[in-house]
Amino acid sequence: MENKQAIVMSGIRPTGFLHLGNYFGAVRNYVRMQEEYSCYFMVADWHSLTTHPDTATLKDHVKRVLAENIASGLDPEKVALYCQSHVPETAELYLYLNMMAYKGELEKTVSFKEKVRLQPDNVNAGLLTYPVLQTADIILHRASYVPVGKDQEQHLEMARTFANRFNHRYGEIFPEPYAFNFGEELVKVPSLDGAGKMSKSENQLATLYLADDDELIRKKVMKAKTDSGPTEPNSPKPDYIENIFLLMRLVSEKEVIAKFEADYNGCTIRYGDMKKQLAEDMVRFISPIRAKATDIKNDHKYLQDVMEKGAAKARKSAQVTLALVREAMGLNYY
Ligand code: ADP
Repeated sequence: MENKQAIVMSGIRPTGFLHLGNYFGAVRNYVRMQEEYSCYFMVADWHSLTTHPDTATLKDHVKRVLAENIASGLDPEKVALYCQSHVPETAELYLYLNMMAYKGELEKTVSFKEKVRLQPDNVNAGLLTYPVLQTADIILHRASYVPVGKDQEQHLEMARTFANRFNHRYGEIFPEPYAFNFGEELVKVPSLDGAGKMSKSENQLATLYLADDDELIRKKVMKAKTDSGPTEPNSPKPDYIENIFLLMRLVSEKEVIAKFEADYNGCTIRYGDMKKQLAEDMVRFISPIRAKATDIKNDHKYLQDVMEKGAAKARKSAQVTLALVREAMGLNYY
């Protein structure tokens, strides 16, 4: 990792099974970035406690997230792949940043407002300060690039605000972190019912998971919302139809997509055929990842080794940053 220049950091919460949104928004970029950058990728177990206080399934989900990342092509030898709670330096930096984050700005965060709506009985302080902990995760390694999906744009803006605030108050330590995607645009993978995005814990029947078996993938795709088709040539596509094309662009061959685009524009499209094709292309894409992930997840000794090595790499980088932070803040007493 030493000779790679720019630093990359990102994380995924162990709140369930990884889905196509996680894959195309995050993991696919991780896999490409590991060749060129110095990368830190973590399973964000502390973050999951903000919405999932019951930890009965946590261990299993942590292993699953690790296994599914590795099965998707992430190489633990090339990157630091670790579990957030194994790097306690994160909590110290989070504490310092909390002194510079204001209640008003945190309450305005879109994801906070959304979660208050979803869990009105558990509006805990961790939920409010989620963007602060996320900032700590990122700037702990003085990372510049953060591969994430579109839903994270506002959090990255806040991470820049907090990093700059620290720099102005105590001295220039942190680069500004930016959301990153190899295409120009950040990705949002829509759910199959046309309402919202694919997600680990909501919308499960309209989300395609990397662990879904072939029959379930086919069933979910065939249930995607369509209509009787356009009646005017070259009409604009309704959102739910655009979503099916978007999913096809992620996994299908160019010629296949071109054929259905032409059919749509000529008003001859048969959505049943399109969904059958999409289902088969999804099966072809997901099934090898699923098979690999199952093998890796069952290899407990290997996963323990991955976590230990990852934590050691992450703590080494974190301790360098924390020494700089304490010095800048005047917390170095001897
Ligand atoms: P989830 O929302 O499924 O719980 P996380 O909050 O753990 O996922 O996010 C992990 C990564 O996956 C983040 O980079 C996030 O931007 C990305 N991501 C999650 N859902 C989607 C989606 N539907 N489309 C694109 N990226 C997504």
